[in-house]
Amino acid sequence: MSGILFNKIIFGPIHSRRLGNSLGINLMPEDIKLCTFNCVYCECGWGRTSEVQYDKLLHTDVMLPILEQRFKELHDKGAVIDSITYSGNGEPTLHPEFEVITDHIIALRNQYFPHTIISCLSNSTQLYREDVLRALKKIDNPMLKLDAGTQCMFNIINKPFHEIDIEDISDKLCQFDGKLTIQTLFLRGESNGQKVDNTSEEEVSAWLQRIHKIHPHTVMLYPIDRETPEKMLTKIDKAELETIAVRIREMGIKTLIY
Ligand code: SF4
Repeated sequence: MSGILFNKIIFGPIHSRRLGNSLGINLMPEDIKLCTFNCVYCECGWGRTSEVQYDKLLHTDVMLPILEQRFKELHDKGAVIDSITYSGNGEPTLHPEFEVITDHIIALRNQYFPHTIISCLSNSTQLYREDVLRALKKIDNPMLKLDAGTQCMFNIINKPFHEIDIEDISDKLCQFDGKLTIQTLFLRGESNGQKVDNTSEEEVSAWLQRIHKIHPHTVMLYPIDRETPEKMLTKIDKAELETIAVRIREMGIKTLIY
């Protein structure tokens, strides 16, 4: 698999275009991407499975001392951290102890970096689990993916390993009562002979209807920024993203372009 993988459970802080100085937490295995999606643009490269391989995941009794030690080191060095961010090799909420880990990270944040936010980049597919929904509601900045308005484009762009209904995802995103950020990558191109395009009027309209219903406090729009596993993709320019942003701002929703 080509692409960037993180070989540590805690990495950085690194500069993030969206989050500033970001201390990364990778709950997924070190040597493979583990995700329920196989997005055409994923910077980790193509995945092979969404089956959770428990023997490849760190258990909390091993993980928590590592996290605590690193938090303490960074605190003692006077590190400036804007966000403690779940990201890394796949979908962090697939970790079966995601809520327990989140509770510990909140406690560590409160102890060592009380002014730092906790963010989670998630693909929204595990929101059907009560523990994941609860955990994501506890953190400051859940950043949840919604790349398409129609089921067809969702399947083409995000390539879920198992059938996932975009309606179910939208319904779950509504349960945040607006206390979330929606992150959407716009792109055009081709994949396996299928047209990839979430920028057409049909797709943007369908996506905007979902945004209207979910009514997040913030929407983040971004184009491809790094090498993608699917090679026949085109980067959308900022001017085009701005035309979409105008329509979201008309709903009174803060919209940022990266
Ligand atoms: S959801 Fe994220 S980690 Fe999963 S395939 Fe898509 S871009 Fe990669």
